[in-house]
Amino acid sequence: MTGKQKFDLAVIGAGPGGYVAAIKAAQMGKKVALIEKEYLGGTCLNVGCIPSKSLLSNASIFNKIKHAEDFGIKAENVTFDYGKMKERKDQVVSKIRGSLGGLLKSNGITIFQGMAQFQSPKELKVKGEDSALIHAEKIIIATGSEPIDIPAFPCEHNTILNSTSALELTELPKSMAIIGGGYIGCEFASLFAEFGVKVTIIEALPAIVAAQGKTISDALTAAFTKRGIELKTHTAVEKVEKKENGLIVHFKGGDSLEVEKAIVSVGRRLNSEGLGLEKAGLKPGPKGAIEVNDKMETHVPGIYAIGDITAIAMLAHVASHQGIVAAANACGQEAHLHYNAIPAVIFTHPEIAMVGLTAEEAKEKGLNIRVGTFPFQALGKSIATNETDGFAQVISDQNTGEIYGAQVIGHEASAMIAEMALAINNELTLDCVTDTIHAHPTIPEAWLEASLLANETPIHFPPKIKPRG
Ligand SMILES: Cc1cc2nc3c(=O)[nH]c(=O)nc-3n(C[C@H](O)[C@H](O)[C@H](O)COP(=O)(O)OP(=O)(O)OC[C@H]3O[C@@H](n4cnc5c(N)ncnc54)[C@H](O)[C@@H]3O)c2cc1C
Repeated sequence: MTGKQKFDLAVIGAGPGGYVAAIKAAQMGKKVALIEKEYLGGTCLNVGCIPSKSLLSNASIFNKIKHAEDFGIKAENVTFDYGKMKERKDQVVSKIRGSLGGLLKSNGITIFQGMAQFQSPKELKVKGEDSALIHAEKIIIATGSEPIDIPAFPCEHNTILNSTSALELTELPKSMAIIGGGYIGCEFASLFAEFGVKVTIIEALPAIVAAQGKTISDALTAAFTKRGIELKTHTAVEKVEKKENGLIVHFKGGDSLEVEKAIVSVGRRLNSEGLGLEKAGLKPGPKGAIEVNDKMETHVPGIYAIGDITAIAMLAHVASHQGIVAAANACGQEAHLHYNAIPAVIFTHPEIAMVGLTAEEAKEKGLNIRVGTFPFQALGKSIATNETDGFAQVISDQNTGEIYGAQVIGHEASAMIAEMALAINNELTLDCVTDTIHAHPTIPEAWLEASLLANETPIHFPPKIKPRG
């Protein structure tokens, strides 16, 4: 170990929270250390958002090819090589990881490869490739999360997989059980079903993606059922028994299901163990979450926490935004975070995206709302591209027209949601959307039409109130 090294700011964890915070602080002229025990980019880049979306992009192309004949294109005897898709996914990840390393260095950030542990509120010991003792005036904790293992059926990463080992498959099984119907489980279901795997989702709650509200959950249930994905809701898994060529998944109550492989996707464990938090004077909550205020400050002055470890909204873009706020405050500026306009996307087929309140949430809050729901079946661009499933929906205030929330299910939902995030974040109204000229023919015109519908003045949809005459 070398002598004590002094920094203005040390960031623990180089996921989308930590590395963004490090860059922001370096840009503000601070001397920054970034400590990472595994790979730059964290869960998101290495075993989360990017690899899963890389594989899902193959599924989307395959789906298009399957429907080529609708466009007058003959694509006969189409085959695929899943091993090559996995190779491409690995290349995507390592390319971005390489660029990230360069970006951090170009910002003058000192990277330490190793596990960080608090020695005191301002001191960290790094154990690993770059052993060191670091003194930092400010410290940001961005240690993220990992998949939960269930003791009754632990992942051995061969037949019982978690979200990390599922990304490493080089061949597809004939059948697969997905234990847990949250958004991560549903994305894997969508991916593997596209390539012909017989997928069954097992969910203890009454619905899949229940956390996203009834509109979303009902729509995804209908789309998955149409695609032959079997859903077993209200069903808890008791144990998973291994047999010669696969598994028997036993449910509470006696039923069972035989499959070749299973993915356990039942939530994430927060990485607060082994950090020496007690030496910093920090006590995490019961599930390991580190409590913060809207400036991302913990109760120990000079120590901040961001990203999954705060358990506020476990999404990469939230971690990054929290990183910007924490870094600004750590560098002497005043920044606050508010969470009323967090976009979230489920990259299934069809894609689903949402921001702000659902209609149910708005009603629970006692708000009087107007809802405008425009089906893609009525949109020119959707018809032209044969992508007519789904709808765009706007939730707004009955009197003022302020937009409280939006949900979209269908083609380009992931890109569509940005317009509504901007609207909600800036307290815009339906009139702001209808007064904005939307390019034609495009999918975002669905927001214009949904807003017109909420105002009961639709152009490309039959009016509710019939005109006189
Ligand atoms: C399969 C999957 C798909 C996902 N898809 C999406 C998506 O499409 N969109 C989205 O927004 N989110 C998605 N997520 C969630 C997203 O990946 C996380 O919300 C995000 O990565 C959290 O960022 P973070 O910076 O808080 O932590 P992480 O990305 O988990 O990074 C934390 C880093 O800290 C390091 N670390 C931990 N402890 C220490 C220590 N003591 N010393 C040094 N280093 C340490 C870890 O090695 C890790 O690299 C997905 C997750 C999974 C698993």
